Amino acid sequence: MNEGLVSITYIGATSLFILSLGGLSDPETARRGNFYGIFGMTIAILATVFGPQVTNYVPVIISMVIGAAIGIYAATRVKMTEMPELVALMHSLVGLAAVLVGFASFMDPPANLLGAEKTIHLLEIFLGILIGAVTFSGSLVAFGKLSGKISGKPLLLPGRHFINLAGLIVVIFLAQWFLPSEGSAPLFLMTLISLAFGVHMVMAIGGADMPVVVSMLNSYSGWAAAATGFMLSNDLLIVVGALVGSSGAILSSIMCRAMNRNFLSVIAGGFGTEGGTVATGGAAPAGDVKPVTPSEAADLLRSAKSVIIIPGYGMAVAQAQHTVFEITKLLRERNVNVRFAIHPVAGRMPGHMNVLLAEARVPYDIVLEMDEINKDFPETDVVIVIGANDIVNPDAQDDPNSPIAGMPVLEAWKAKTSIVMKRSMASGYAGVDNPLFYKENNRMLFGDAKKMIDEVFAILKS
Ligand code: NDP
Repeated sequence: MNEGLVSITYIGATSLFILSLGGLSDPETARRGNFYGIFGMTIAILATVFGPQVTNYVPVIISMVIGAAIGIYAATRVKMTEMPELVALMHSLVGLAAVLVGFASFMDPPANLLGAEKTIHLLEIFLGILIGAVTFSGSLVAFGKLSGKISGKPLLLPGRHFINLAGLIVVIFLAQWFLPSEGSAPLFLMTLISLAFGVHMVMAIGGADMPVVVSMLNSYSGWAAAATGFMLSNDLLIVVGALVGSSGAILSSIMCRAMNRNFLSVIAGGFGTEGGTVATGGAAPAGDVKPVTPSEAADLLRSAKSVIIIPGYGMAVAQAQHTVFEITKLLRERNVNVRFAIHPVAGRMPGHMNVLLAEARVPYDIVLEMDEINKDFPETDVVIVIGANDIVNPDAQDDPNSPIAGMPVLEAWKAKTSIVMKRSMASGYAGVDNPLFYKENNRMLFGDAKKMIDEVFAILKS
């Protein structure tokens, strides 16, 4: 394949990636968006492999076979609820690739680079390794935190902002040393500082803010890919990296708004300081709860005219979405107005609940975002909270000391009756107690969400 044909194919792939992003922005077009992405990536890989830059196919094919085997193994083994960990791990690989390509370009620079061109190439290497190293180590720590291998509690070193600032100043100094001298010492030192910065940055972030961190690292991995594109003079990698970098940044900002967080403060660390443990600042258990049986829950649903279902992480764990839809169909046949309320950070990844509900074939028009449905709770007869906790915690509004204070939440407690389905009184991801459970109009249906929903469905049907 000659250079011209490769460029045309790259333009085609870029257009498909843009169409893919457009498709993925709505659940109804997401499948098509995915298809565009797969098609774009396939032709991009083919054009690169058969392009003029590849002269020896053997190492390329061996690497592709090993990479594909690992990818297929990971994708088939990972559970839906472990997706954020997998994504964090993949981001770390993009970062590592940028670091390795940077060192390879440094050791084997393109011939005939002189003057400004050479300085620009060195700067690309320096920045590529910097972004790549931060992404690599930060994503590994995010993986550790999400999978529970590292505590969700933020590590707040004394003078941590000063440490970060000092690191930045040293990196600028190292760049000034590296560019004229082309020495390997400043490059290695900068890599070590960047790796340490990545660890420190994510260690300082509390468990409750991890969703933002995951999408922020997604953005970093895009910029790391773009930097790799500059080093390799690969236009497609630059464009795709910029697309991932900017869409990740937009997603982070949307999530910050959804959680009422200041983006810069999240990056600087220190929010969600009680992450992973029961918070002492939140409300203490405030009285008794009212447990109900599946049959009592079914009775409440039988007499309801309007129902809102709030799915959360526990529904994903229990894989209860299919029976939830069966109940929805049954109630709708009986003229009950049933809708779903989706919180932007419900579950463990952006869009987690939408994916599950789409899988169960719940019609999109009854799946509403938090902003669209929050005003309807006071007129709702029954709210069913299925394995959700933090996203329906009234303390986010009522207790300024709560680690999730200020996070917009679904106002389930305003309905005439709420039924919370979970296995115990354990806290959710943010580790805070939930006063909703003790409200006068709340009922607790204890048990695995799938088992409970199955029982409620069987009773409703009979
Ligand atoms: P939570 O983590 O707040 O609560 C989930 C609840 O589900 C738990 O309290 C648990 O209680 C219950 N549960 C677990 N397994 C089952 C089961 N098999 N059957 C029934 N219940 C079960 O989830 P939410 O969805 O309410 O909130 C999401 C949280 O995760 C937020 O704090 C968010 O910030 C965070 N987060 C979100 C990410 C995202 O991008 N969406 C990424 C990372 C974190 P019990 O053990 O008693 O059953």
